[in-house]
Amino acid sequence: KKYVYLFEEGRADMKNLLGGKGANLAEMTNIGLPVPPGLIITTEACKEFYVNDRRFPPGLEEQVREKMRVLEEKTGKRFGDPANPLLVSVRSGAPVSMPGMMDTVLNLGLNDETVEGLSRAANRRFAFDCYRRFLNMFGDVVLGIEHAKFERILERYKERRRVTLDQELPAGDLEQVVAEYRALIERETGRSFPQDPMEQLFMAIYAVFNSWNNDRAIVYRKINKIPDDLGTAVNIQVMVFGNLGDDCGTGVAFTRDPATGARELYGEYLINAQGEDVVAGIRTPRTISDLKEEMPDVYQQFASICERLEKHYRNMQDIEFTIERGKLYILQTRTGKRTAQAAVKIAVDMVHEGLISKEEAVMRVEPAQLDQLLHRRIDPRASVKAIAKGLPASPGAASGKVVFDADEAEMLGNQGEKIILVRTETTPDDIHGIVAAQGVLTSRGGMTSHAAVVARGMGKPCVCGCEAIRIDYEAGEFRVNDLVVKKGDVISIDGSTGQVMLGEVPLIDPELSPEFLELLQWADEIRTLGVRANADTPEDAAKARAFGAEGIGLTRTEHMFMAPDRLPIVQEMILATTTQERQAALNKLLPMQQGDFYGILKAMEGLPVTIRLLDPPLHEFLPNAEELAVEITRLRLTGGDEEELRKKEELLKKVRVLAEFNPMLGHRGCRLGITFPEVYAMQARAIFQATAQLVKEGVKVFPEVEIPLVGEVRELALLRRLVDEVAEQVMKETGVEFEYSVGTMIEIPRAALLADEIAREADFFSFGTNDLTQTTFGFSRDDAEGKFLHEYVEKKILPENPFIVLDQAGVGKLMKMCVALGRQTKPDLVIGICGEHGGEPSSIEFCHRIGLNYVSCSPFRVPIARLAAAQARV
Ligand code: ADP
Ligand code: MG
Ligand code: MG
Repeated sequence: KKYVYLFEEGRADMKNLLGGKGANLAEMTNIGLPVPPGLIITTEACKEFYVNDRRFPPGLEEQVREKMRVLEEKTGKRFGDPANPLLVSVRSGAPVSMPGMMDTVLNLGLNDETVEGLSRAANRRFAFDCYRRFLNMFGDVVLGIEHAKFERILERYKERRRVTLDQELPAGDLEQVVAEYRALIERETGRSFPQDPMEQLFMAIYAVFNSWNNDRAIVYRKINKIPDDLGTAVNIQVMVFGNLGDDCGTGVAFTRDPATGARELYGEYLINAQGEDVVAGIRTPRTISDLKEEMPDVYQQFASICERLEKHYRNMQDIEFTIERGKLYILQTRTGKRTAQAAVKIAVDMVHEGLISKEEAVMRVEPAQLDQLLHRRIDPRASVKAIAKGLPASPGAASGKVVFDADEAEMLGNQGEKIILVRTETTPDDIHGIVAAQGVLTSRGGMTSHAAVVARGMGKPCVCGCEAIRIDYEAGEFRVNDLVVKKGDVISIDGSTGQVMLGEVPLIDPELSPEFLELLQWADEIRTLGVRANADTPEDAAKARAFGAEGIGLTRTEHMFMAPDRLPIVQEMILATTTQERQAALNKLLPMQQGDFYGILKAMEGLPVTIRLLDPPLHEFLPNAEELAVEITRLRLTGGDEEELRKKEELLKKVRVLAEFNPMLGHRGCRLGITFPEVYAMQARAIFQATAQLVKEGVKVFPEVEIPLVGEVRELALLRRLVDEVAEQVMKETGVEFEYSVGTMIEIPRAALLADEIAREADFFSFGTNDLTQTTFGFSRDDAEGKFLHEYVEKKILPENPFIVLDQAGVGKLMKMCVALGRQTKPDLVIGICGEHGGEPSSIEFCHRIGLNYVSCSPFRVPIARLAAAQARV
């Protein structure tokens, strides 16, 4: 079996076998770029190594020796030759990039004899510089000796000479450093440093294979969802030297600016340096544009190679290079990582440059990444000063009062306060507090801590691991050095940068760059799936429209019931003991609701607006029973107002009557419409009166009345008749004819199962996948996310949180069935989705596949949905 390839035997599309690095080195070799020769040990060999109990597969060693002889012929040097030694680097390279999995070993092949040969061929300082680097890297990477131990020895020499830079040390010092390094290795490993280059090479290969399963690599794969069984390749490459003098150097560069996407080389280099010196931050590197002056020929060559690589790969590249005595070598190229902003700009520019097609451009941008561009951020014109900095765990900026406790956050949040939840770390017990907060700040935990993961899932700003803040829960404050921030003080956080600021900072809404708009326009040309938004206010509707929404897929009328000036009237309506009393309260609500609908319908002129009738159980509008009881006791004890006491007692009775064992499955949705038809009638009237008014004003509107939580066709039939009657009445009263439709949410499995019957009474379906997920799994979301769902995901019982990523296997199967059954009755039944999944890329792709007409998501996610819908089509 062939385990070893020469660079010229490989190609870019052999990444799975040769690893990303190796495949690209092979490709560059074959298009004639100056790449030092080398060979690649395949990922297959690595996989067999593991099957084989961590032993090399038979034949591997012989193949390596054979191919090393080819490298010797090519270079005219011999591995281990004391006179003119061949030196190589040993580099790992997985099929997908895994930065930091394993460090590279440079200058392999040096020993006490060959270093003398190298010294004679070049100079002594250089030879021992290479040797001490090799001993350090080999010691660290292959023998597992802490890097710091080598570093301390080197530091001692630099201190003695009072110099700060490695290359200021004279050759003699480096020789002594080498001697000390060898002694260190002997002390640490109990054997002397291996002098045989072949033995060094096989030890290094062994270390690379092993590194596939070190802790860092395993964690990295877990976070990035990379399969564990890919294995890594090993690249063995002839060394070129950037540390031979001042006509040498090494650097890295992107072919375009990875932050902004601007079309100019972006990178850094160091003169007289090797390998990782540039990123190690020992010396301050120069920017690539300086190379133009310093080595104009090399720069020209490099610029033209960059252009060639971009044209060849048709993507922005991240390139490593080394200059040896004025000659340029390319050591690596790969697709460059970039910010969302750069991704959009580069994709659009490359279409204009004729490099890629519009479809490719649309596929180049990760919809989820766009999130970065669609959050509120700090006004760049404002001057803000951070008091502390943590990890940028979830993008966006937010201001609010500091609260340390999740229950308190929930309470204040419900009162409409803007708050920032501040905790050392969060647990599933804090979810309700995170829901209520504008943003989250933690002093401990990384990018994958609970707070970070939950906040990202909810699209809330989060700064975590901000160790500069010391929280004192008892005192209700946190400190940053001498600064004390108390509960209730206002702070701001920026989850895109990790900054924490005192007080409120001016925030601005995201704006779409011209390139972004152009890309979205291409997406619109490609996609067939419609994109609507969920919006409850005219402002949100207008925002959604500006982001390209083609209608409103869900307006929740209960949000309008919660407004402080309306809640007392809503309570009156609920507490009414007679139909007349109830009607009186409803009459007061009618003009208010009419105003709401007028605003939203008008903002969406010419586009459909789905309005859902009252959905939540009524007790959500009433005060909390325990709090009421406490107040009553207090009134009793203090001998407070008799009248007030009696009223409160009445209220408590009613609250207790309305209390439900399981509100999620209780008296809500259309069940309210069945028992209190006058409520739905009022809402229908408000919708149609607003419609008539707008039609009279010459505004084109398309209201879609939606009945929630239907599970049986007779529920829908009854309520549809009610709505139709109100419409007829309003038309008669106003003398205005208008269009409207009546449909239902599909959020109970029974509705999906009987969709053929339900379709008889529905003009449209809309999947309420939040509830449909709850009812299909039998999970209550709050309990599931708070208590056990994370373990389900951790133990791989479920691949993802099904409330974030649609469960295609179960919930999706119901949806598919429902679409087929519904359209069996009505071939052009309009079907959409309005759950949170409507803004999640993989779920959108599924919606496209099963033939939905549109997805509906929050206004800020509309651009993401437009792009994802286009990608589903390509
Ligand atoms: P990473 O994957 O961490 O970037 P690399 O294998 O690319 O590790 O190597 C680390 C550094 O060593 C890079 O700067 C690279 O350019 C340099 N390097 C690797 N092989 C050679 C070589 N044969 N000659 C000179 N420098 C090399
Ligand atoms: Mg590299
Ligand atoms: Mg619902």
